[in-house]
Amino acid sequence: MTKEIFIIANWKMNPQTLKDAERLFAAVEKIAENSENIKVVICMPSVYLGLLSASAQGGIAFGSQNCSWEQRGPYTGEVSPAMLKSVNCDYVILGHSERKAIFAENEEIINKKLKAALAAGLTPILCIGEKEDEKEQMKGVLENQLTGCLRDIKVGQISKIIFVYEPVWAISTSGGEFCSPDYAFGAGLLMRKFIIDHYGKYTGNKAKIIYGGSVDAKEKNAVLYIKEAKMDGVLVGAASLKAEEFGKIIRSVSEISN
Ligand code: PEP
Repeated sequence: MTKEIFIIANWKMNPQTLKDAERLFAAVEKIAENSENIKVVICMPSVYLGLLSASAQGGIAFGSQNCSWEQRGPYTGEVSPAMLKSVNCDYVILGHSERKAIFAENEEIINKKLKAALAAGLTPILCIGEKEDEKEQMKGVLENQLTGCLRDIKVGQISKIIFVYEPVWAISTSGGEFCSPDYAFGAGLLMRKFIIDHYGKYTGNKAKIIYGGSVDAKEKNAVLYIKEAKMDGVLVGAASLKAEEFGKIIRSVSEISN
């Protein structure tokens, strides 16, 4: 059986209007039509989710970029995992470095959100990665993040999580430092070893680990992360906002997965 490859877009706080979001979504939907063995997920601002999913053709899955750790109640401004589920949203990004740096999220909060997301039937897309000044301690940093985020997570829940190795220093570098497929391979291996050590070989070997950080259409770098770094897919930020560029990524990965 061919394994499924994930191409996940993180639109962040873009596009600025519903009209632009509809336009971008429609263009990507067209491109994704013929992409067998590839799961395209678009993680968009939650305000667009219900509107776009209502008229979607079904080839693209919907994701959010955050959720509450509570399912209901007096939490002004929050969106619960159950609400996301109710508008055909099946995925949620958790632990993104921007939420850690700007919104003070830590592993304890991420762990609560992870549990709430799993309880509601969402697939968490869990971001793990070291900062520039943590490169030399990368192994310890990844292990600490995984330990904190996965507290009390049961073996049967691991297969429901998509792990992302996303080095903070390689996010949106636009021509700056690029994470080599070799380096990403090493980090992915460390993450898999952690999962094997804590949840067993069977679960660890099957865990889905993808790469995120300045994936773009240039030099088919998505393909390199999948082929050389042995990643199960990619998380794409800036390049997912340009349908043409995101389309090139989808097509290049399609070519190797058919
Ligand atoms: C991200 O921030 O999740 C991301 C993948 O961004 P970029 O592709 O722009 O580095």
